[in-house]
Order: sequence, then C-alpha cells, then structure tokens
Amino acid sequence: MPRLYHLIRLCLTAVLLAMFVARPAAADVGMVPNFTADCHAATAQERRVDQMLTRAAWTCSEADWRSDVPAVWLRFDSAGWEKDRLPVEFFSRTARFESISFYAVDTDGTIRTRHMTESAGTPVPFGPVFTMPLPPITRDTAMLLVRVEAPHSVPLLTEARISHDHTRTQWPHVNLLLLALVMGMLVLPLLFDISFFLVLRERFVVIHAAMVSAMMVYILTAGGLITTLVTLPIAVLAVLAPLSYAIGGGLSALFLLNFLERGAQSRLMRRITLWGGWFTMIVPGFMALQLDATQPFDDVGYFITYLPFIGIITAALLEALVRGSRSARFLAVAWAPIIIASVERLLRGLGWHVAPQSFDHLLYIAVGIEVVVISLAIADRFFALRHERDAALSEARKLEQLSTRDSLTGLMNRRAIEARFEELIAQGFDTFALVDLDRFKAINDLHGHQMGDAALVACADAIRGGSDRDTIAVRLGGEEFVVLLRGERSLERAEALRQAIPMRIAQVVPGLDLPVTASMGVIMLADADRHQMKFSEFYARADALMYEAKASGRNRLAYERLTVFSPPPKAGRRRAA
Ligand code: GH3
Ligand code: MG
Ligand code: MG
Repeated sequence: MPRLYHLIRLCLTAVLLAMFVARPAAADVGMVPNFTADCHAATAQERRVDQMLTRAAWTCSEADWRSDVPAVWLRFDSAGWEKDRLPVEFFSRTARFESISFYAVDTDGTIRTRHMTESAGTPVPFGPVFTMPLPPITRDTAMLLVRVEAPHSVPLLTEARISHDHTRTQWPHVNLLLLALVMGMLVLPLLFDISFFLVLRERFVVIHAAMVSAMMVYILTAGGLITTLVTLPIAVLAVLAPLSYAIGGGLSALFLLNFLERGAQSRLMRRITLWGGWFTMIVPGFMALQLDATQPFDDVGYFITYLPFIGIITAALLEALVRGSRSARFLAVAWAPIIIASVERLLRGLGWHVAPQSFDHLLYIAVGIEVVVISLAIADRFFALRHERDAALSEARKLEQLSTRDSLTGLMNRRAIEARFEELIAQGFDTFALVDLDRFKAINDLHGHQMGDAALVACADAIRGGSDRDTIAVRLGGEEFVVLLRGERSLERAEALRQAIPMRIAQVVPGLDLPVTASMGVIMLADADRHQMKFSEFYARADALMYEAKASGRNRLAYERLTVFSPPPKAGRRRAA
C-alpha cells in the first residue's frame, strides 16, 4: 500500500516542521526575564531560615538534585535582578508537595516571609506549571530563600523560577495552538476507532480508543491546556498527568499484543508484553498518585519502574520486525519518536539530565505522531480485512451461482426456481409454461447423447428470453423446462418461444433428419398477487395440460386460465382436521 506509506511520510514531515516551528517559540519563554535558583540544599525539615543563612551547605551547580528528602531549599541571589524589574512571582513545574515558604532577606537582615500550602498555588496554562506570589521584594533584598516541603519530584525544584512579571508566565499562544493541534489530531483517531469498531469488532480497536483517551488526558493536564478551560487543584493536575501517561503506556503494550498478526510474537514475548502492560499501569500508576507515605521514593520510583516498559516494547517490536510483521513496521514508525522523547523525559525526571521545560513539546508531538500513525495502521488493517472479506464474499457468490445454475445450459435450475417462486409470483410473473421436447429419447438413440446435449443447449437459447426482464427460463431436468412470463400477451409470447425451439435446434445442430418440436402446458393467473399456490401445484397442473398436448398429437400448446383462487378441497379438509 505505497499510498499509505506516502501519507505517513507526509505526516512525519509535517510534525518535524511543527517541531522546528515550536522550538523558537519555546525559546521565547526563555526570553522572559526570569531566574532559576542559584543554589540548592536538601535538608531535614526542622532547619530554620537563620540556620540556612549561617551554616548551610549549598550546592551552587546543576548537580545533586534530589526530592527524596523532607525539604529542599532554593536560593535566588539578587545579583542579576534589575532594580526596576524586581521579582514578584514564583513558578514551577506541577508536582505534589506539602507547602512552600518564601523568605525575602534584606541586606540589613530584615526577613519578609510568606507561607503557602499546595492548594494555594495557581495553575497556569504554561505546561504543567503553577505560580505563587512572592513576599514583597525591595531594592535592598539580597536574596530570596524558598523552602519546598516534602517535594514529590525533582523538576518541581530544577524548573523553579521567579519573574518580575506575572503575566509573562503565560505560555505564548503559538504553544497553546500547537497543543490544541495535537489534541485535534487525537480526536480524529477516536472517531476512526468508533467507526472501525462498528465494522471490525476487534479488541485492539477498543484498546486503541482507551489509549487515545489516556493520551488526551495526558496532553490536557501535562500540557496545561486544561487550565485555559477549568482551574483544577495542583494536587489533581500533578496526579492526572503521570497517571494518564502510565495508563496510556500500559495500554499500548496490550494494544501491541492484540494488534500484531498471529505468529509475530513468540509465546515468551507475548507473556512478557502482557505482564509489562499491567505492571506499567499498576506500579508507575501507583507512584503517580504521590501519596505522603511514598514521598521519599515515588519520583525515582515512577521513572525507574517505567523503564522496563520501554525495554519490553522495544524488544517486542524488534522481534516482530524480524519475524516480518507488517503491523510492526507501522508501530515502529509510530513509537520511535515517543520512545526517544520518553527516555529524554525520564532522564530529566530523574535529574540525570537537565533541559528546559520546553523539551516537553517533543513528547507531546511524539504522542501526536504515535496516535496518528497507529490510526493509519488500523486503517491499513481495516482495508486488509475488508479485502479478505470481499474475496470470501465473491467466492461465496460463485459457489451460490454454481448451486443455482444448470451446468449444461446455464439456465436457472429447479432448486433456484423453487426457492424464488413466491418472490417471482409477487413480482408479477403470472404465466407458468412447462416445456417438454417431443420424442427426445429418439434423438439420443439415433444421434447419440452429445447431439442430444447440443439440442438441449439450443432449446435453452431459444427460450432464454435474452435481456427481456419479463421472461425467465428454467431447466427442471432432462428435456423439461419452465418459462415464467409476466406482462402483456404472455400466452402469445409463450407460443412464440415454443415455435422458436425447432428452428433454433435445426440451426445449431445440423444433421437431424426431423425437426425437434416441443409441447407446452401453460397456466395463467388472473391476479397473481392473490394466488398462494406452491411451485409443486403449478407443476402438477401444467403437467396435466402437457399430457393433454402430448396425447392430442404433440408440437402444440394447451393452456388453462385460473381466474379465482380456490384452495384445493383436500388441503381445506386437512386444515379443518
Ligand atoms: P415425449 O414426446 O413423450 O416427451 O417423448 P420423450 O422421448 O421425450 O420421452 P421421455 O421424457 O421419456 O424421454 C426423455 C429423454 O430425454 C430420456 C433421455 O434419454 C433424454 N435426456 C434426459 N436428460 C438428458 C440430457 O441431459 N442429455 C441428453 N442428451 N439426453 C437427455
Ligand atoms: Mg420428458
Ligand atoms: Mg419428451
């Protein structure tokens, strides 16, 4: 399906372009005059601000970030601040914590304090970001100390910033637009899934819909888009983003399991994939809840327990590719960007690598690519399955033809006419003409069966009626036929067909000494729709007429017109009994 590959290439190019456009936009955020912490220190909870000012061990580099401690202090020195643009706002990446205390320390030792609990923070549509107002900062402020109590995540600390302008903490519109675009990309596959499921009823379609829904929650919450619609508490946003990511990840393993063709996975790999899917939903999913009891390890726990999933997905894909799976090729294209972006995000989450928050875009875009390419893969599977079904249908139709057609003449056979008889009467076929060739046994005896067969074919051609939709010819068996007619002058048309038989046979089968004539018994109904006679009753009545025609010298037609339908007395009695 080269057109599909072309489409994928086109999508990837568009996404790369979007990434390229998004990068300078993200850099724009960096241009907001804001400051990250100059130094940081992990401490026991009871450390007071004066202790921090006198004898604290500060780390003034990117090293040694950790969140598995009761409290982390951040120090912002006033050295770079412009005197007319003093910081007023604190903002950082959304995660759970207990409280944040701010201490503005002036050169003369005056300290202004502000204590904020988690619920006092305000989420802003700036990625997964919240803000808090700082205590008043003056030209005499030497430094700002920030104590984050019970932080559940390293990026909550590394991405903490202060800014002079709280309006500048809003995300540039182009970034929100990009997120909205990715959201739009996710809505379409969801609609696809619904319509595919109506036709396919495959489990992988349902899993895919659940996966897309989880990714939507992730982008809405982690991207901050939801904050433009409703204001959710930090605690909810902080949990929803990683939880939906873990669930989306776990579901994608289950999707892989159900979507790959039979034989694309070894039994062992199937078991590992299933196990990995549930493990990822349950264990990192639990860590994502960021409960008080798990605070010392849930940040590292989340990222570490997510790592096996990436290994399993990669191994399962490689195995399926080696086994020549077509679906795996789609999945590899879909998942390569998300695997790379996830690894980057995981390393950043662990504090092993520090990068601007704008790197999150890579993950959102990768999620967009993933969902769209997988939708294409599902479409591909859909077409393949439909193709298979169509082939099976035309095979079935061929078989049906074989079972309803007479093999010698190609006319409808007795079985077909019996099945369709009522329907044809309802369609207005009101004339039933039974045809029997005269002294046909003699033709066989004199000229052989082959010549007899040729005569039967010629007879069929004579009565077939061509493209006339008001004439239907049937071979009942042997040299016996039925012609059903509807419309004007059906008796005359039946007689014309009867007379055409010897001429046609003489034309097509040379060397016959005598013409092969036919006799006919014809039943006509006055109002066909009111008659409920069965095929066998017509046949019996027409056969009686045929006997008359044969008895009175053959090569003629005998007919009967049935005007009023009266059920045979025998049947009536039977009903009464
Ligand atoms: P009548 O005018 O009374 O109908 O005489 P008839 O010889 O046609 O009588 P009957 O119905 O007894 O004979 C039918 C013959 O048709 C018997 C058989 O040899 C021949 N026949 C039946 N089916 C076929 C067929 O498929 N091919 C050929 N070649 N002959 C067939
Ligand atoms: Mg016969
Ligand atoms: Mg005959």
